[in-house]
Amino acid sequence: MRRIIFVLCICLFLIPSNASAAPKKDRAYYETRGEIVWEITTDQKVIALTFDDGPHPEYTAQILDLLKQYEAKATFFVVGNKVKLYPDVLLRTLNEGHEIANHTYSHAYLSKKNNIKKEINKTEELIYATTGSRCQLFRPPGGFYNDRLVSIVRAEGYKVIMWSWQLDTKDWSTPGVNKIVNRVLNNSKNGNIVLFHDYIEGPTQTIAALKIILPELKRRGYRLVTVSELLNYNKAIPAKIH
Ligand SMILES: [Zn+2]
Repeated sequence: MRRIIFVLCICLFLIPSNASAAPKKDRAYYETRGEIVWEITTDQKVIALTFDDGPHPEYTAQILDLLKQYEAKATFFVVGNKVKLYPDVLLRTLNEGHEIANHTYSHAYLSKKNNIKKEINKTEELIYATTGSRCQLFRPPGGFYNDRLVSIVRAEGYKVIMWSWQLDTKDWSTPGVNKIVNRVLNNSKNGNIVLFHDYIEGPTQTIAALKIILPELKRRGYRLVTVSELLNYNKAIPAKIH
């Protein structure tokens, strides 16, 4: 009897555990369903620069000056409590042709205690009250997501936008202007999304880095567009033909 139980246990152990399990919810799962975007596939020379956590009264303004100088458009994932403080900066951002997107009200990380739906709606209302425009894109603070977040965000009418993995500049940690510059210039390809921050505590290196990055990307022939414009260039990956 003991032997039978032992064999049974071994058999159970050998049955692949994922035989009837749900599909693995990795990047490919969300990406192929079109529920989260990290970057797009295109043969066009387009890149989307994104700036998170603002608006900031000085940094955002200086970034807008540079974007104008180099005829670049960008997407700003704003935080509601900063919009409340600096509505003029938000208005200027939109008036200069950039895209405004939602990044929660209080930069709330995904957790059971944070009401993400409330965070999104509060920010949306502030943006609408300031600009008369609504957003289409959302980026979760820290890039943390799960099924619950994705379904809440989609139900509220947004697309979840991340960034190209190789293009997280980590500028919030002030790693040095050269590090930010090299990360972008050594890794940028067609269809990429670059992650910067226009609001950080203390001095920023992002602006000095942009003074090098913007002219160089332009020299290489890239057009810097908003994320929504970038999405229009997405070439659907054709199904494999066997
Ligand atoms: Zn953020």
